[in-house]
Amino acid sequence: MYAVGVVEVVAGIVVALAPRFGGLLVAVWLAGIVLNLLTIPGFYDTPRRVASSYVELLTPREFDLTTFPNDDGYDELVLAKSIPVQSPCEHHLLPFRGIAHVGYLPGARILGLAKLARVVELFVCDLQVQERLTKQVADWLDGCCARTRARGRSSSRSPAWSRETAMTRAFVLSGGGNLGAVQVGMLAALAERGIAADLLVGTSVGALNAAYLAGHGPSAETLDELTRLWRRVRRRDVFPIDPVRQLLALAGRRPSLSSNQGLRRLIADTLTYRRLENATVPIHVTATNVLTGDAVCLGRGDAVTAVLASAAVPAVFPAVEIDGLVLVDGGVADNAGISRAVALGADEVWVLPAGYACALTRPPAGALAAALHAVSLLTHQRLLWEVADLAARVDLHVLPPLCPVSVSPIDFSHSADLIERAHRTTRAWLADGGDRLPAPQRFLALHDHHRPDPMAGGCPTPAVPASPRRPAA
Ligand SMILES: [Zn+2]
Repeated sequence: MYAVGVVEVVAGIVVALAPRFGGLLVAVWLAGIVLNLLTIPGFYDTPRRVASSYVELLTPREFDLTTFPNDDGYDELVLAKSIPVQSPCEHHLLPFRGIAHVGYLPGARILGLAKLARVVELFVCDLQVQERLTKQVADWLDGCCARTRARGRSSSRSPAWSRETAMTRAFVLSGGGNLGAVQVGMLAALAERGIAADLLVGTSVGALNAAYLAGHGPSAETLDELTRLWRRVRRRDVFPIDPVRQLLALAGRRPSLSSNQGLRRLIADTLTYRRLENATVPIHVTATNVLTGDAVCLGRGDAVTAVLASAAVPAVFPAVEIDGLVLVDGGVADNAGISRAVALGADEVWVLPAGYACALTRPPAGALAAALHAVSLLTHQRLLWEVADLAARVDLHVLPPLCPVSVSPIDFSHSADLIERAHRTTRAWLADGGDRLPAPQRFLALHDHHRPDPMAGGCPTPAVPASPRRPAA
């Protein structure tokens, strides 16, 4: 008892003097307090009750975003007043209370008034500070209204838009390791044409890009920042070299060749929200249940952990456990996210493939590069099958992956070039109406550049394999 008290006092003093190490020491400090409490009758069950209360405080109720046509051209301020707010402060873990007033100027559609309170509730169910809470609600409304305005200008969208839901157009971003940079160029070209997503579904590196977009929105500034981020990333940030770990992994004493701590830091540094359901644009990420091979779609819960699971390339990164499921890279599962987007309510799906290195002159050197290349081929094939399977049944727009590409799977130094090329080619593709051409699966055909005339007509000549699953209806 005396020793525990000393630990509390010393740790408390050091916490106050050394904020840099505060997280660890706060844990020690709290552990001391808990140990102390456990010696007092009546407190045995306190940790469980505290945990339950925080689960309740941090879990928002689910709700659907409902909007209505602004048939009367209403253009005055819509205001919901005196919404009660209670949120746990992220600095002290204690609740702060108050009231909020939320207003917005309607566009082509009007948000249900009651939904404004639900939006506030969505964000207060998180560790918060007051200033960020205000900005998150404003950004969320801004994103919602921006999507509403974009829809209002698009006459071809009217049938789908007549439904009372804002979620109709999905972007599906596939995996592809370092070639995920290509998706940034594609996103920039789409944004230039006012094509924005109501829903994002991402896998592996596509989940990372999607998660960034879901928090920051699709503005030009956001994409510039994402471009800068890709330019800064180097191999050591994602795949730190650790020969000891690699030897232990080969000996069966570590679960993977690389630690995922660098990747976790990278994801955490780029996200503006903690839980997937708090993103400005709705997002789901896919992973694979390593025991069953089933695709697992994550739309709620800790965002960093979900993206980390989605990008956990087997043998390269350790599997990630979420809610009792052991998860690895979503690219290994038997769907690439398109059917998931449709199941979530999308009636128009834009697919942004990261692609694969189709113009390598020799197999990638080294186990890490070989494993990554193999997974990118597998992911691309899965995507090809799913597009072939669904093309006749879904309003599908498949952007062509960059070709030719000869970048090694562990080389991140070409990101700027990949982004610029993808931006240029996607812009030209859209201008030529390429997204409206039939049989979009042909733009994903596996090919190489070492046979005569491999790029006939500027695109790979398709040799699309039949889906190993079911025939298209
Ligand atoms: Zn190619």
